[in-house]
Amino acid sequence: MVDTAPFDVISAGLAEVHGQFLPVTDGEVASYIPKLALADPNDFGLALVSMDGHRYQAGRSQVPFSIQSVAKPFVYALALAELGLDEIHRWVGNEPSGDAFNAISLERGTGRPANPMINAGAIATTDLVPADSPEERFARVLEGLSAFAGHRLEVDEEVYRSESATGDRNRALAYLMHAAGSLRTEPRAAVETYFRQCAVRVNTVDLAVMAATLATGGVNPVTGRTVVPERVAVQVLAVMATCGMYDAAGDWLVRVGLPAKSGVSGGLAAASPGRFGLACYSPPLDPTGSPVRAVAALREVSRRLGLHLMQPPAPGPATVTACTTAEHWPPAADRPPQERELLARGARRIALVAARGELDFTAVERVLYALASVAPDRPGWLVLDLAEVMWVRPTARTMLTAALARVTAAGHRVCVVTGAEPYGHGELTTGAEVRGSRADAVAWAEDGLVGESAGLRKSTD
Ligand code: GLU
Repeated sequence: MVDTAPFDVISAGLAEVHGQFLPVTDGEVASYIPKLALADPNDFGLALVSMDGHRYQAGRSQVPFSIQSVAKPFVYALALAELGLDEIHRWVGNEPSGDAFNAISLERGTGRPANPMINAGAIATTDLVPADSPEERFARVLEGLSAFAGHRLEVDEEVYRSESATGDRNRALAYLMHAAGSLRTEPRAAVETYFRQCAVRVNTVDLAVMAATLATGGVNPVTGRTVVPERVAVQVLAVMATCGMYDAAGDWLVRVGLPAKSGVSGGLAAASPGRFGLACYSPPLDPTGSPVRAVAALREVSRRLGLHLMQPPAPGPATVTACTTAEHWPPAADRPPQERELLARGARRIALVAARGELDFTAVERVLYALASVAPDRPGWLVLDLAEVMWVRPTARTMLTAALARVTAAGHRVCVVTGAEPYGHGELTTGAEVRGSRADAVAWAEDGLVGESAGLRKSTD
């Protein structure tokens, strides 16, 4: 059997970060929920799940724990998927509160909680999941969380009972919201559903799969199942980025730059959109309620891999591989001398631009700039060779389609070379000729020029 370990730099990197922060002993294990106080402060697990659903882990990544507040963004996603942002926003805001997780952050007048990542907002959000009874609502929440994790999750009944027995502050929050009209159902039942949701048992790998499902845009990369629409995943990540780390959310965004959510049992899930889901478990918490080792470890991973959301993407390889006119290539030898002469005279009217790689906004801007620089000053023939383009992003497709329509309307004739295997080029060739090779496209342009010149000559004879 092949030894794959030498190829696995990801597990090796996680193991290094794990080793770096294992000696940290700062922080206190949460004790306001009595059962949580029994957690082992030495537990420390890390996991990363890639967009292809590959799982990497280090340390005690299989130790089960209750999900606590890390459930909040995922339940928010379920509610958004059912009701949409506008309806949810009527009941729960999107603004960072700057307050602690259990603060009474309710908007004056409406009683609306500041955001779905603090307890008040999470109680209200869970309550918005459509259902005819609290039992049905929790069943839907559990089913949704399980879909995010990629397997059936269970409730840790002891943790649930422990929180329910001591959770008067959350009950008080629910009653305040109910009195203000921002919680629709009976407060006691709403809070019990929320407590059950907090007591759902996961391990670090589960959290990484859940985060990876948001990072892909809503498709669980392990099961391949679409859990929420992409628009919802994007909205949830945005709220995690601004509100996920309680009163330390601003500092987290500046230093780590990843959407994340922590919980009082020691879990922390973060997503690097389009790259991976990342999770950490370590029970001792800092004064803001986030796990000390997890915060440090994720900060280190973000630093090492340059994951900060605001970091501009590295410039891609040169997009434009050719930008020229027929003046710079010899007319085909198999053409009769008369045609060759016509082609030589009109060579400035045939332009060619070739591009390669992935087309995004920047790449298309380069292609269009190049085309404009070689386009003839009166209508001519433009060959756009995209045979080496491997991917056309939606923005790029919109821009190119619009450009081709405008260029054609200006009188130029355009031929797109898609190559043998078009990667989403199809829709952008509206109004343009399509050829499978550059040679065929150039021959099309030359035929056009010869035809036009011959026609002109005939009419002047
Ligand atoms: N169940 C906990 C509570 O409501 C969750 C808080 C957290 O994880 O931050 O107090």
